[in-house]
Amino acid sequence: MLRRDFLKLSAALPLAGCASTGTSRARVVVVGGGFGGATAANYIRRWDRSISVVLVEREAAFTSCPMSNLVLGGYAKLPDLSRGYDALARHGVQVVRDEVAAIDAGKKSIRLARGGELAYDRLVVSPGIDFDFAEVQGYAEAMQAGRVLHAWKAGPQTLALRRQLEQMRDGGVYVLSIPLAPYRCPPGPYERASVIAGYFKQAKPRSKVLVIDANPDVTSKAGLFKRAWSELYPGIVEYRGNSRAVGVDANSLTLKLELEDLRADVLNVVPPHRAGDIAAKTGLVTHNNRWCDVDWRTMESKAVKGIHVLGDATLSAPAMPKSASMANNHAKVAAAAIVDLLNGRPPSPLKIINTCYSFVSQDEAIRVSSVHEWDAAQGTLAPVKGAGGVSVTRSPAEAVFAWNWARTIWADSLA
Ligand SMILES: Cc1cc2nc3c(=O)[nH]c(=O)nc-3n(C[C@H](O)[C@H](O)[C@H](O)COP(=O)(O)OP(=O)(O)OC[C@H]3O[C@@H](n4cnc5c(N)ncnc54)[C@H](O)[C@@H]3O)c2cc1C
Repeated sequence: MLRRDFLKLSAALPLAGCASTGTSRARVVVVGGGFGGATAANYIRRWDRSISVVLVEREAAFTSCPMSNLVLGGYAKLPDLSRGYDALARHGVQVVRDEVAAIDAGKKSIRLARGGELAYDRLVVSPGIDFDFAEVQGYAEAMQAGRVLHAWKAGPQTLALRRQLEQMRDGGVYVLSIPLAPYRCPPGPYERASVIAGYFKQAKPRSKVLVIDANPDVTSKAGLFKRAWSELYPGIVEYRGNSRAVGVDANSLTLKLELEDLRADVLNVVPPHRAGDIAAKTGLVTHNNRWCDVDWRTMESKAVKGIHVLGDATLSAPAMPKSASMANNHAKVAAAAIVDLLNGRPPSPLKIINTCYSFVSQDEAIRVSSVHEWDAAQGTLAPVKGAGGVSVTRSPAEAVFAWNWARTIWADSLA
């Protein structure tokens, strides 16, 4: 944001918070315009027009991780997965393009990287994930050199990885390394392996996809993925569980495991995750130096009052995946609670639903879904027994539903 834009914004938004004094409109500031933050900003405005909402996002546009694996397979283009923030602005959300450099929970204000502070009555933090690069020796340098990529945040790395796959010789080996769970999108790596195998089958049939998983087995929709690999990609996909990446050698494109080294032609390492940096800086991280525990009735942080944490940054409730679907639902729980709290009403817990589609080829997909409701005895959101499940089999119909799901959640999150 240019300095003159910030001054304009500050003039429109007095720096002091005001819900408690009743002198003016209450203000909610939202950090991060991904699935969680954009949805929260949008729904607070939908449910109470009297609340002023400011969304701070460092990127100029939203780019969806869901469907980004299809870009790697050559079945979609990245611009098709991107959206602007204009519709949110039309709903009265003030969108600020900047990075939140610091949060002062005592003063109830945030500091912007390009200068200036904004006060809030309630703060929503949905920063997604950052990576623990140090856990994979040599990773940071290899990534800087463009030799080893994660492509686990959709954007330039997605395009760079696609280029590496296109340039790979027929007969080459693409190695995908998966960290121990929890990581964002449990089925995402196996979807990636499948669509890249689909590309190889058609364009470079002597090539291989080698999946190196730190987990003991495929962590989501295991039976459906394994069936797709054996029926659609025999001799192309090889899966190895219990194999944790400990280092990479950028020069020789070698993945170092605890007991052996593997040479690759394209090396795609997804490093272990943690909540986005701003969560750690603010003292919101409560578990393993990684995740932020919340009250699932309101999404309010258990560590810092007045701040609601959403999406991948949260310490997941039992059997709850880190997904766009969940982040979008967390946002609605938070939006409802914030509207209630700012209007002096007690919030009530909501029941939420997760659905994750995965492509196993260009035109066939599979699905997993679950329902989560407040369990007062356990003090958390618990999965509802008998609700949800997985597809019976892969099908073209699920692929149509997957695209419909994506378009619907983009529209729902971004207004
Ligand atoms: C390959 C892949 C496929 C996936 N497929 C699916 C799928 O099919 N279905 C599904 O449900 N989920 C899927 N996911 C998971 C999904 O993308 C994430 O769970 C979801 O994006 C989490 O939303 P979030 O709001 O927590 O984080 P994000 O969507 O990552 O949003 C965080 C935002 O915060 C911004 N930000 C961070 N820090 C700051 C700061 N200090 N100041 C300003 N802005 C900041 C970032 O720029 C970013 O825009 C997939 C993920 C991957 C990687």
